[in-house]
Amino acid sequence: MTNSSSPAPAQADCIFCKIVAGEIESQLVKETENVIAFRDINPQAPLHVLVVPRRHYGDVTQLAGSDPKLLAEMVKVANAVAAEHADGQFRFIFNSGPNAGQSVFHVHGHVLGGARLGWTPA
Ligand code: 5GP
Ligand code: ZN
Repeated sequence: MTNSSSPAPAQADCIFCKIVAGEIESQLVKETENVIAFRDINPQAPLHVLVVPRRHYGDVTQLAGSDPKLLAEMVKVANAVAAEHADGQFRFIFNSGPNAGQSVFHVHGHVLGGARLGWTPA
């Protein structure tokens, strides 16, 4: 059984750990003590921002099991981003696993907004 109660340290091959460390540039829109938010490089809506905890967790289930307060902080940041950069309404998506579309294995929530959104994930 794997131990999901503690996060891995920053991972050398993790692109979002590198963005958190400032080793890869990003268009930051918000930062808190524990969370950063930056524009997705391949936007799927007028507002498309990624909300990312500074600490590395592989996916939202690992994060929720280890640090639910941090997950709540991510929701707050998503809400603030949508209020500051769109009309306050937003979709907050966590892809979990490759079949769900996860391609970066450092947990992140996609904040989508700025338009009336469709619903055709498959
Ligand atoms: P996932 O597919 O894991 O749910 O989401 C990963 C997201 O990260 C994708 O929407 C992709 O466009 C975005 N992404 C991948 N590499 C970079 C990068 O270097 N910079 C930024 N800003 N976004 C990235
Ligand atoms: Zn990472």
